[in-house]
Amino acid sequence: AGSGKFFVGGNWKCNGTKESISKLVSDLNSATLEPDVDVVVAPPFVYIDQVKNSLTDRIEIAAQNSWIGKGGAFTGEISVEQLKDIGCKWVVLGHSERRHVIGEDDVFIGKKAAYALSQGLGVIACIGELLKEREEGKTNDVCFRHMKAFADAVPSWDNVVIAYEPVWAIGTGKVATPQQAQDVHVSVRDWLKKNVSTEVASKTRIIYGGSVNGSNSAELAKQEDIDGFLVGGASLKGPEFATIINSVT
Ligand code: PEP
Repeated sequence: AGSGKFFVGGNWKCNGTKESISKLVSDLNSATLEPDVDVVVAPPFVYIDQVKNSLTDRIEIAAQNSWIGKGGAFTGEISVEQLKDIGCKWVVLGHSERRHVIGEDDVFIGKKAAYALSQGLGVIACIGELLKEREEGKTNDVCFRHMKAFADAVPSWDNVVIAYEPVWAIGTGKVATPQQAQDVHVSVRDWLKKNVSTEVASKTRIIYGGSVNGSNSAELAKQEDIDGFLVGGASLKGPEFATIINSVT
């Protein structure tokens, strides 16, 4: 972990029922969490209100997506204004499932980030390469392309946390080695230094995501440039998510 405050996000994706979420919330409410860690969970939209009304204020709430501008005639979308209205502080944007399953492109994601920030939501900005791209030696190229799309769009990096999530590690049980993650985090920080500013490079948190669990988080957290985690599967289990939060050294 670096010098910034450790940040751990739980991405619940399209999982849960009123009942299972009530259990997860009560497990989180009773967990002992390291005080010096920012903790955020991202429930499915339809359960955000339930979670907001039952979860301890110690944990902030993120949405898993947001519309690119002001609400209106956009069937099926959820606006940033609505997310703020129900108490969200953050939004996850550019997640690999939205890039590769839903087909969102760099420009669209950049615009969403810019709008969310302009309205005061924090953005968890996801980047990361496919297995094929890693095998072809294109990991940095892809991450830098994702970074550039965010950089071209956002007015400021103050409220942005970058999540490096190699697509081959997401939901696969194949976690990146601490060194593999550290190497990309250093490259991304260096990119920020060259293309944005030394200040933004040093203060922006870069978190790792991809099969993080209660058994591998401590080793990853030891890396100098890993400033936290974005956790999918293991964030659905309260005690294990607490272990990950508490793995900061
Ligand atoms: C994610 O969805 O952001 C993620 C990292 O998932 P998992 O932890 O399940 O690999």
